[in-house]
Amino acid sequence: MSDNRIIALAGNPNSGKTTIFNALTGSNQRVGNWPGVTVEKKEGVLRLEGTDYTVVDLPGTYGLSARSIDERVARDFLVRNKPFLVAVILDASNLERNMYLALQIMELGVSKVVLVFNMMDVARSRGMEIDARAMSIFLGVPIVPTIGNKKEGIEDLKRVISLYVRGLSADNKMEPGSPFKYRQDIEDAIEQVESMIPNEIAREYPARWVAIRLMEDDSEYRDIVARMSSGEEILGKVDALRQHLERILGYDVETAMAEMRYGYIKGVVREFVKRRPSIGDRLSMSDRIDAVVTNRYLGLPIFLLIMWIAFMLTFNLGGFFSDYIDAFFTFVGSITAAHIRTEWLASFICDGVIGGVGAVLVFLPNIFMLFLMLSILEESGYMARGAFVMDKLMHAMGLHGKSFIPMVLGFGCNVPAIMATRTLENRKDRIITILVNPLMSCSARLPVYVLFAGALFSAHQGTVIFSIYILGIILAVVLARIFKSMFFKGETTPLVMELPPYHIPEPKGVILSAWQRSALFVRKAGTVIFAAVILIWLMASFPLGAGYASEHTLIGRLGSVLAPVFSPAGFGYWQAAVALFFGILAKEVVVGTLGTLYHTTGSGLSAVIASHFSPLSGYAFMVMTLVYIPCIATIAVIKRETNSWAWAGFAVAYSLILGWSLAVIIFQVGSLFA
Ligand code: GDP
Ligand code: MG
Repeated sequence: MSDNRIIALAGNPNSGKTTIFNALTGSNQRVGNWPGVTVEKKEGVLRLEGTDYTVVDLPGTYGLSARSIDERVARDFLVRNKPFLVAVILDASNLERNMYLALQIMELGVSKVVLVFNMMDVARSRGMEIDARAMSIFLGVPIVPTIGNKKEGIEDLKRVISLYVRGLSADNKMEPGSPFKYRQDIEDAIEQVESMIPNEIAREYPARWVAIRLMEDDSEYRDIVARMSSGEEILGKVDALRQHLERILGYDVETAMAEMRYGYIKGVVREFVKRRPSIGDRLSMSDRIDAVVTNRYLGLPIFLLIMWIAFMLTFNLGGFFSDYIDAFFTFVGSITAAHIRTEWLASFICDGVIGGVGAVLVFLPNIFMLFLMLSILEESGYMARGAFVMDKLMHAMGLHGKSFIPMVLGFGCNVPAIMATRTLENRKDRIITILVNPLMSCSARLPVYVLFAGALFSAHQGTVIFSIYILGIILAVVLARIFKSMFFKGETTPLVMELPPYHIPEPKGVILSAWQRSALFVRKAGTVIFAAVILIWLMASFPLGAGYASEHTLIGRLGSVLAPVFSPAGFGYWQAAVALFFGILAKEVVVGTLGTLYHTTGSGLSAVIASHFSPLSGYAFMVMTLVYIPCIATIAVIKRETNSWAWAGFAVAYSLILGWSLAVIIFQVGSLFA
């Protein structure tokens, strides 16, 4: 009944799932299309005794109640795909909270379960002694202690998996243990419901699990049962049982059941985990750092300082390497011009490929640095503190601090950032966070800023770019507030913020992750951007005889139609107009188009920009680039995640109107003072 080739890794966020996943699968992994957060399914291959197993890294969850989308994804996978083995990764230093998910997975009962007690080093440093052997016998499941980031215990884990693979229980005499039970009257009710579950359902789902879900009033499972011919009768009986129990308990059944699980776990932990009080009671390192970093007064300045440092490193260190890439393309361009005699081919290579794709690739170092900074912030655990510090501000936006992480991820790419909103439990918070996310300036827009700020604000370019990012944040705050009062008046949901312990980021992991994300950028340069640039080059070459990239070419005519729209913003040039137009395909194409049309990259392109734009019109252009219409991939993901074209259309409409208005206001008001 279960698929013998799938091993699922489940666990709370930050328990070390991905670390264990990497240790098990090495380089044999299929990274999803949009890396960044473990929202999408990540798969890898583990070879054991000559057979390949698919290892799946599930989204981090605290339970299987499917309250958030992450939980639903994880639960659906476990219930429907029935992996033959689930390794639950637990943060051993925080077993009480982490065991909840483990208990629910054991309760689900479709897969064999291994508990991986990860972060044993942290547990030990906090003075915890875990009697894993005794606990394993008590629970009736194997327990493997590990230190994921040092690869300790991974071989033990593989050994346990091999034993399971061969169909043996872990040490051949593993007893069923003492499985968790609810109090007797609830157990009786569960049993009654279980016996009523029709065969069609029991073939797909474990009957006891369905009975438990029904007793907990899970709407998804109620719907499944309601579709059966005897559905109404069963649900009627369930409701009667629930009402009866509620009268006895004095409160609702699902609360009682959750409390019993917590109580059981508390007991298990008290029994098998000993703490040496002298060390255990001392303030942990994380707590001490948090006392400063999340301090009421210091928190925000520290946050801004860290962000500012991250941005400065992105531009200054990144810019240093960009110069070499620029020199390389200039070199290739001069060789081509000297040796290729066929005029159209030389133009294609110099103007199209080097001008277009080269103009974009020059910014690879900046983008790599940006992703490196984001990875370090994420990995170290600081990002969660940022969310904590921003909680107040987010409340002012009518949102919760949890919305902050998708916002920061938007600096990398809005697509995974919008997918990361799946951690938000409230649909209204989600929609607002999605709608304003494109205002968080993604890395694809960075080349425009670096190019324009470098050409027009040489001494202050870092500050100018920082101001664009800040403007994006302010707009997001204001609009979130407005959208909230427009669409979802007066609704708030209380939530608990998790603060994972700090970690010194693993250099290899951080660099790998930044590289994977940058590789996506390079791949994009070779595909979408390349295709767009060819289109632009063709449009700039025809009709023949009009003169390459002149106003009389196809693209020139298109641009001349659009350009007047932008005259009030100070950049009514047809080249700027088509750059923005094709930028909707992917924001990198804005610079790619300019490079193709002006057939130059890097410093050459800078000089052209300086001659066409004033600092004021250049700034208006940067603001337009920041705000106007999200790229096609972002529009598509907004549609997918909100499940509505109306929200996607709204995002396009508001951003276009807002971007244009701001660009015009900046140029017009600025001109009064200039
Ligand atoms: P996930 O959210 O469950 O996928 O967690 P990750 O695998 O991303 O790990 C979160 C952080 O914990 C990373 O910085 C890891 O390097 C770190 N980490 C993983 N395992 C251990 C461990 O056993 N001990 C310590 N001290 N850190 C660990
Ligand atoms: Mg992960």
